[in-house]
Amino acid sequence: MVKEFLDNSGLTFNVVIDNLQAAIDTENPTMTLEEMEELEGRKGHRMTWQSYHRLADIHGYLDYLAQTYPQLVSLQTIGSSVEGRPLKVLKISSGSPGRPAIWIDGGIHAREWISPASVTYIINELTENQEAHGEHVKSVDWYILPVLNPDGYEYSHRVDRLWRKNRQVSGHCAGTDLNRNFGYKWGGAGSSKEPCKEIYAGSRPFSEPESAAVSNFIQSHAGSMKAYVSFHSYGQYILHPWGYVRGYPPDHADLSRVGHKIANAMYQAGGASYTVGGAAATLYPASGGSDDWAKGAAGIKYSYTIELRDRGFFGFILPVQYILPTAREALAAVKTLASEITNVR
Ligand SMILES: [Zn+2]
Repeated sequence: MVKEFLDNSGLTFNVVIDNLQAAIDTENPTMTLEEMEELEGRKGHRMTWQSYHRLADIHGYLDYLAQTYPQLVSLQTIGSSVEGRPLKVLKISSGSPGRPAIWIDGGIHAREWISPASVTYIINELTENQEAHGEHVKSVDWYILPVLNPDGYEYSHRVDRLWRKNRQVSGHCAGTDLNRNFGYKWGGAGSSKEPCKEIYAGSRPFSEPESAAVSNFIQSHAGSMKAYVSFHSYGQYILHPWGYVRGYPPDHADLSRVGHKIANAMYQAGGASYTVGGAAATLYPASGGSDDWAKGAAGIKYSYTIELRDRGFFGFILPVQYILPTAREALAAVKTLASEITNVR
């Protein structure tokens, strides 16, 4: 019907996804219970990076790593979601304390499934395949939260594939946009005070248990945190502060220089081109974002939001064959940061 109207109107247009529901239905082939149990018996966990996994598989995988590599990996629950799901941070550390640290989170926005998929791939490479990645990877303490918004993530699997926010109920609407709820320049441009909006900022800064837990944890490690990376999708952007305004921090040149290094490394790793720039200047203003808070309030020098694949053909409904190439790009991004903050190549 819409196509007929557009044809008759004389406007030119592109059908990007012919049938969105069909794309959603075929996006994520799932294994049978027997196949999953066979896999778990063989590898110790259920992750494949050939489908988008449910939260139980991801958390089971983190538990498996903590049990398998107690010298390297530790697992900490830093808080709980609105619906009581644990916020599990994996620490990967192969050395003495006092070393530079990198924070990585995924899944702030529920529907951006490629983000937790890529972050769990990073975890896999930094643990089960660490020898392949050189000294700079071992010289850093890694703090990794693969699913920052577990309630929204599960809701996007079970009920509404395109759900974005967490599951806080405010009046007759559900959900706060966790990437508008951080407490630096909260409530400004590109956020909303209206609970039914997709960019609802919450009732106050850090009103949500998920964002509050992350900020408390990072603050308590503020001295060692040298880089902050939040993985989103989609668009293929490497964004640095500021998001709240079209302007830049004083060390803009450093953020831009390292951003371009990250883009080069991602291109080499997976073949996709990423655009580098200030978040508001490149995309649009958005206040209360986690990257602005990491930079402006927590004082973490290298703070980035990386919008993974693609540029919009599939958008959030990225087919599973793109998980591995995208995840390799994400790994290259964080390895570049590790090299930068340690000066070890
Ligand atoms: Zn996002």
